[in-house]
Amino acid sequence: MAHSAERPPSVDKLARSLAGSGLPHPLLVDVAREAIASGDHESAADRVADLQRSLLQPVLNATGVLLHTNLGRAPWPSSDAGTYRNLELDLATGDRGSRQAHAPSLLAKACGAEAAIVVNNCASAVMLVLGALAKGRGVAVSRGELVEIGGGFRVPEVMEQSGATLVEVGTTNRTRRADFANAVANQDNDVALAMQVHQSNYKIVGFTEAPTTAELSDLDVPLVADIGSGLLDEACPWLRDGPPAWLKNEPAARQTLEAGADLVVFSGDKLLGGPQAGIIAGSAELVASCARHPLARALRPGGLVLASLQELAMAYLRRDGDAIPFWRMASVPVAELTARAEKVRSAVGLGDVVDTMSVPGGGTLPSVEFASAGLSFAGNYRDAFRSFSTPVISRVVDETTVLDLRTVDPEYDDLLAEAITHAVSKQTSGANG
Ligand SMILES: *Cc1c(COP(=O)(O)O)cnc(C)c1O
Repeated sequence: MAHSAERPPSVDKLARSLAGSGLPHPLLVDVAREAIASGDHESAADRVADLQRSLLQPVLNATGVLLHTNLGRAPWPSSDAGTYRNLELDLATGDRGSRQAHAPSLLAKACGAEAAIVVNNCASAVMLVLGALAKGRGVAVSRGELVEIGGGFRVPEVMEQSGATLVEVGTTNRTRRADFANAVANQDNDVALAMQVHQSNYKIVGFTEAPTTAELSDLDVPLVADIGSGLLDEACPWLRDGPPAWLKNEPAARQTLEAGADLVVFSGDKLLGGPQAGIIAGSAELVASCARHPLARALRPGGLVLASLQELAMAYLRRDGDAIPFWRMASVPVAELTARAEKVRSAVGLGDVVDTMSVPGGGTLPSVEFASAGLSFAGNYRDAFRSFSTPVISRVVDETTVLDLRTVDPEYDDLLAEAITHAVSKQTSGANG
């Protein structure tokens, strides 16, 4: 407590002494003021570290959860940010163009749709479809599909916000085509649309029945399918070995449209593997109605997202799954992961190589797991890993810390090794000392 007798430094002097952190001066002034007010100006450095940890930054995802909601779901490299783009300029004519002319039409091509538009996320896509096509009218949805997706997306509430009226059809566990047909035929319901919502993050098992997309495709109203997860094509032509077994019966945009849905809506950052976005694809006429609605302006994505989505669509059209980090990670053979784990383990001389289980995550494919490999360390090092300069997000099971390599790009293996040395040897020596 020697310093408590000293005069504390001035706020400005203390703030300037922290300049090496790279943080802007006004933030350092706040830190310095708080540190001095606490009576311990030497706490300023720790406060700077806390502030840095509170900022948005790259992290290593060693959880094995491919689409980790807290880590922004799919990893996708952002395009060069500091450049102008022909976002709304038609380079052929020099006239005003549409930001919906590039990525959306390529995505439409990649899933066999006539047309598509992109908005901020799937929740806004649903909102826009309902607002544009069913405002003040009824939308028929099965009682088994009135779902809540993580982050507060609840079908009945989105419906209410959009100005459409929910017409509940069937029962929780069993709904048939005839239930939809009756709901549509009942004039009082004034049904404008039928909607299917992918259950995404839960399953109903046992005595269940749900109409297929094909069965609902010839109702007297357009059919919209919220497939959520954004799988473009069940056949996964972008993967050398075709669709992985764990995809099971996941609905895909192409097949849902082929089965007769008039529109599909899905997220950009789930199984599509791109940036946060919502895609509305299908009938050119219905897509155009959505694009004309005033909400479309409020929900429009920025140039960075559209540029990223264009690259992503090109990768799908080239059938190049290796160019899409999500699919690359999802399809790495376990033997490769084990080999990497052994290499990291021999570089650091700490931990054990272990078999693990990865999950798709992101509210997709509940109860699906697939084999993976990584490193484990006896003890709970979760906080120590998170405190590394590039924070590492790990998993702790039964007081054992596990790093799953499936969700770590191999280019970061050396960084991961440094993190292990930082976290494990630091905490161990800390505990001993
Ligand atoms: C994830 C999901 C949504 C919400 O998507 P966001 O892109 O997070 O807005 C909506 N519907 C379904 C079926 C989903 O799976």
